[in-house]
Amino acid sequence: MDGFAAIVGPRHCLTEPADTAFYGEDWRGSLRATPAMVLRPADTAEVAAIMVEAAARGLSVVPAGGRTGLAGGTVPIGPSVTISMERMNRIRAVDPVDMSITVDAGCIVESVANAAAEADRLFPLNFGAQGSAHIGGVISTNAGGIRALRYGTVRDLVLGLEIVLPDGRVLDDLRRVRKDNTGYALRHLFIGAEGTLGLVTAATLKLYPALRVRETAFVAVETPADALRLLGRMQGCGAELVAFEFCGRRTIALTIQNGHGFREPVPLTTPWYCIIEIAAAHAAAQLRPILEDNLAAALEADECVDAMIAESEDTRAMLWRMRESTPDCTKQEGPAIATDTAVPVSAVPAFLDQVHAMSAARWPEGHVMCIGHLGDGNIHISLQAPKGTAREAWVQRAGGFDDAVAELAVAAGGSFSAEHGIGQTKVKSMAALKNPVALSLMHAIKSTLDPDLRMNPGKVLPPG
Ligand SMILES: Cc1cc2nc3c(=O)[nH]c(=O)nc-3n(C[C@H](O)[C@H](O)[C@H](O)COP(=O)(O)OP(=O)(O)OC[C@H]3O[C@@H](n4cnc5c(N)ncnc54)[C@H](O)[C@@H]3O)c2cc1C
Repeated sequence: MDGFAAIVGPRHCLTEPADTAFYGEDWRGSLRATPAMVLRPADTAEVAAIMVEAAARGLSVVPAGGRTGLAGGTVPIGPSVTISMERMNRIRAVDPVDMSITVDAGCIVESVANAAAEADRLFPLNFGAQGSAHIGGVISTNAGGIRALRYGTVRDLVLGLEIVLPDGRVLDDLRRVRKDNTGYALRHLFIGAEGTLGLVTAATLKLYPALRVRETAFVAVETPADALRLLGRMQGCGAELVAFEFCGRRTIALTIQNGHGFREPVPLTTPWYCIIEIAAAHAAAQLRPILEDNLAAALEADECVDAMIAESEDTRAMLWRMRESTPDCTKQEGPAIATDTAVPVSAVPAFLDQVHAMSAARWPEGHVMCIGHLGDGNIHISLQAPKGTAREAWVQRAGGFDDAVAELAVAAGGSFSAEHGIGQTKVKSMAALKNPVALSLMHAIKSTLDPDLRMNPGKVLPPG
């Protein structure tokens, strides 16, 4: 029996293209490469044994989680073996006193949130792909999502990690301790590393008090600057501001038009809209007057022109379904070049003006569409083709939109990859836009931890 099959068992060593092709397809469908072999280990010991075997054979390794990443990180480049973490899905421990949960890397984000909820605690990570993305995947891409303005990105939620290194050694750093100043915080090297330094096999994550009451509003604003003023108001409103999403009229109108069961929360007469959610841990907290008073003051101060507060759980759920459905509903209208940048929050209005001016000059036939997380300056901007345009033709014509937006973001003091990572699609931007000293330190770390450059080759780092 092949060495790998002996480690994971023949049923979990896939070599037929009919079985492996699925693991080499990008979520967006634009990149694919059939892996030669996919291994599905059951535990950390099996992962370690696979790494030893791969090292002995000089084989490259591609980690795969829920494969919802948007940068082609799990699509292999060159001969390699893919390690899919789907069978490693145990909740190892929930500790409501330490406010922590320890889980296998293959656990789906939503199941971790459910396990925390059963212990009356909150695991706050929340984003459109949470029903498919794995904990190992969100750690490896340092995902952000809707609640990052209150709880931070995944980097802020990780207390400890278990890592299998490229040579098969296991770094057991699954710590629940909140303070630990014993030298370098090694876990941070692996968070956001996209599988280029080692394989995350388990994590200890922070929990928070469960949110028992919440209020949600859909608000119409005239300008991004008005939305920023409203954001500042809501941050000091007296309740936890757990979401402040921001989008353009075309995005929301297409979502309502192409989705199911959606209606206009307010007449869509302004260019911009916000979805705001406040919450509290105490079941008796009176959030409605807080939201009403703040929105009334915002209307008075011309920060917004209309607002609808969700009167029922159904309406609240519809608002969030609408938010999560925007990628699917807008893409029905035509292909788009998507971006994932962040700028300092205060710079968002000027940045959006620059993007609109630049695209009007270079691609006047395209539609600029925006949706994102205003609270952390991460607005996903895309340029949609006129209806009826084929994807290839639009990529040919407007493919440069991504780089142009990235350059504007970096010039505004921001980042060319806010929450989706680098994968293989942004390696070129790393070479062009990343600080050269930072890049040389990254190469030094990579060659120390992975001297044979076998971990997820072709991802994150440009050739050194
Ligand atoms: C509809 C939709 C909405 C999204 N919304 C958001 C959002 O709001 N905010 C946000 O931040 N992101 C968002 N994303 C993208 C997000 O980055 C991914 O969904 C998620 O973080 C990746 O998790 P995954 O398990 O699918 O990882 P994968 O796609 O499987 O992998 C991603 C990368 O991590 C590596 N990797 C995976 N598992 C491991 C492991 N155990 N050890 C080492 N490396 C590993 C892979 O090799 C790859 O390079 C969205 C995606 C979709 C499809």
